[in-house]
Amino acid sequence: MSVIIIENKDIQINQENFIYSKSSSRPSRSIVDPEKYIKYKTIKQTFTFLDNSGDILFMECISYVFHTFTKINEDVYMLDNETYKIINFTDNKFKILTENLKDKYSNYVIIVKDIYTYPKIQYIYMLSNFFTEIKIVMSQIMSYCLIICSKKTKNFELQIKDNYIKDFDIKVDETLIKYIKKDNDSFLENTIIMNNNISDICKSLSKISNLNRETYTLNKYYKAFINKECNTYCNCKTNYILYSNLFQCYICENCLVLSRLFLF
Ligand SMILES: [Zn+2]
Repeated sequence: MSVIIIENKDIQINQENFIYSKSSSRPSRSIVDPEKYIKYKTIKQTFTFLDNSGDILFMECISYVFHTFTKINEDVYMLDNETYKIINFTDNKFKILTENLKDKYSNYVIIVKDIYTYPKIQYIYMLSNFFTEIKIVMSQIMSYCLIICSKKTKNFELQIKDNYIKDFDIKVDETLIKYIKKDNDSFLENTIIMNNNISDICKSLSKISNLNRETYTLNKYYKAFINKECNTYCNCKTNYILYSNLFQCYICENCLVLSRLFLF
């Protein structure tokens, strides 16, 4: 998955033309493949090897763009020596989000579960009118993204009358939509494949016990990856090497080196 950057833009915003709605919008086919989306939605419980995922996903995405981070409190972080306010946008309520962006802070991190609807992309695109730079950062393993808004350039004077919006009357750059769709589709595809693998594994007892070992090792690997501790190659001995059925790769349980090929 990629980090997508939107530079500051002069965007014509006509607030009289906003079209409101009674509920949240449906996913748009220009942003996510409808077939994959439907398949994904039929998965009752997506497999995860993470315990307590919220904090750790936040750290994963933050570490793709910042070198240092310190938590000041629940809503404020120091990221590369700048103060950022953290806002949760999990319920698609644009009015609440907009009010949250109007306070004294100059930098914000907006947590979004997914970007599947056109109004959401319009809103993110519109943010580039008020900030020096917007970065969209997606997690590589779960449906989780951060919208990082850096250095407010002018007052955030957007007036939104109600929470659900169907259309912000803004034409979003096609390349941006293409990038987001690519990330969305590959995320859904990976999740579907992984859950198919899980169903297969669950048919065999010996594979299930291997799955527990894999889950444990992948969890350890992911945490080491976030903390940038994954590159201490240990001359891996054969009995440390575990084959991950889930990701179709080999992993050394000692130093956590991943490999598609059995090179050891
Ligand atoms: Zn090793």
